Amino acid sequence: MHRRLILVLGDQLDPKSAAFDGFDRRRDSVWMAEVAEESTHVWTHKARIAVFLSAMRHFRAALTAAGIDVDYTELDTDTQAGKPDRSPGTLSAALFESLARARDAGRSPDALIVVEPGEWRVRVALEATAKQAGIPLEIRPDRHFFSSREEFAEHAQGRKQLRLEYFYRPLRERHHVLMDDGEPAGGQWNFDAENRGSFPKSGPNRGPGRLPAPTPFPPDAITREVITLVDKRFAEHPGSLDAFDWPVTPDDARTALDDFLTHRLAGFGKYQDAIWTGEPWLYHSRLSQAMNMRLLDPRDVVAGAERMWRQGKAPLEATEGFIRQVLGWREYVRGVYWHFMPEYEQRNALGADRPLPHFYWTADTEMNCLKDALAQTLRHGYAHHIQRLMVTGLFAMLLGVKPEEVHRWYLAVYVDAVEWVELPNTLGMSQFADGGVMASKPYCASGAYIDRMSNACGGCRFNPKLATGADACPFTTLYWDFLARHEKLLKKNPRMTMQLKNLSRKDSADLRSIRRQADGLR
Ligand SMILES: Cc1cc2nc3c(=O)[nH]c(=O)nc-3n(C[C@H](O)[C@H](O)[C@H](O)COP(=O)(O)OP(=O)(O)OC[C@H]3O[C@@H](n4cnc5c(N)ncnc54)[C@H](O)[C@@H]3O)c2cc1C
Ligand code: SF4
Repeated sequence: MHRRLILVLGDQLDPKSAAFDGFDRRRDSVWMAEVAEESTHVWTHKARIAVFLSAMRHFRAALTAAGIDVDYTELDTDTQAGKPDRSPGTLSAALFESLARARDAGRSPDALIVVEPGEWRVRVALEATAKQAGIPLEIRPDRHFFSSREEFAEHAQGRKQLRLEYFYRPLRERHHVLMDDGEPAGGQWNFDAENRGSFPKSGPNRGPGRLPAPTPFPPDAITREVITLVDKRFAEHPGSLDAFDWPVTPDDARTALDDFLTHRLAGFGKYQDAIWTGEPWLYHSRLSQAMNMRLLDPRDVVAGAERMWRQGKAPLEATEGFIRQVLGWREYVRGVYWHFMPEYEQRNALGADRPLPHFYWTADTEMNCLKDALAQTLRHGYAHHIQRLMVTGLFAMLLGVKPEEVHRWYLAVYVDAVEWVELPNTLGMSQFADGGVMASKPYCASGAYIDRMSNACGGCRFNPKLATGADACPFTTLYWDFLARHEKLLKKNPRMTMQLKNLSRKDSADLRSIRRQADGLR
């Protein structure tokens, strides 16, 4: 009898995925495995480990309840007590063990089926394992996305430069998103200019009204068990589980979406670039982790946002701004990842060679903006986009940290981190290490930008206006130093003209003291 084994990875928890097409529960089975390597190949935050394990175990429970046979390997909990690890360390080892068990039981599968993995490394490992086991592996397309990898390749073909805007507009047209009679709703494709507000000095709880607290997801029995396991087995890993509060089932994810649409979408646009210390969520959706694990369909997210606008419950600039993130950026970065991998990972266009500062793992720094973003990251496994791009990412780029180290940190510490989305954002958008594939210019700014967009500088011992001296803001020092160090390369970029013109106003004595101070910081 023809028997197939459906491989389901931790970020593929969708019973409607292509892997289940033609599934016959009388003879086919599902295979899932918890393996240490997925938590240790980068030094993974405890919350990221827990969110994956909990969602996987909930998925197993749902399949089993539906009468589906699941071959599931759990992580061994006892290793901490000094006993040898009885669970297989890698996905390949776990799959080999399962196949050996099946063979011994006379139930060897004739074929392995998997949806395209979200990481190059995993795809290569599965292909090699299947080959070694002598069982054909069928890799099926990932229907979760609006666009396919082939469509991106077609879009990229013959273009000198890739830009989000030219990818996003046809997607809006093709999927009839925010379109009226073939024209973009409101007569404009992009409302970005209206989406750059900062909070008034009185803070986000005064000006536009009290910030709505997101719906909580208190851990249930399965999640509590996972939390105990992670605390025991991965005790030395960064981050904490004290505030663990993430959706781990499709029902949770739906609740999170409804909560965002009802309470925060309307404020999303204007405040999407704002930062406020001690306020991790602001008007952000917190939906990336649920979407990336396939607990939530991005089509429901986009349709829900558009519905809110059409019902007059959210302004167009907020709705378009939000949809651009999901239908635009999320699809675009996936295209970039698969189009340029595996060589993309090695890029280092600015020749950055410094190690990542240790305080990225501890939040132990006097720089208030960084302290806040890092402490929040360690507590929740979350930071919003501008914290990632214009605080932690910006500092690493200005300092000249090796892109690979920055990438490994981002992949480790966020609950939504999966390589197809993390790598282009880190290497390309935040570090400019891809030389301009993701971003048309480096996102470089001084402390003045952070001062304008947040309240962090008010509570900081440094002064964002100063580039030299004991009170100089390290961002400001390193900003001028960055422009000076890379002036030759940046001159070729017309979008850098203004910033370089300002640099040219500095006299050589000024530049010498900035360089000295920057060297001191390094
Ligand atoms: C250095 C760096 C690393 C990042 N790493 C990741 C990562 O590992 N995983 C991840 O999902 N996102 C990553 N992002 C993108 C973005 O920061 C997060 O998607 C977002 O902060 C998640 O929070 P949210 O769900 O509240 O998003 P919102 O601010 O509410 O945005 C809505 C949704 O849009 C999508 N989105 C927004 N911006 C981007 C973007 N630049 N690329 C892709 N999708 C986007 C996400 O799915 C997000 O849930 C990274 C960004 C930077 C600058
Ligand atoms: S002064 Fe500089 S280091 Fe301090 S919070 Fe502002 S930008 Fe950050």
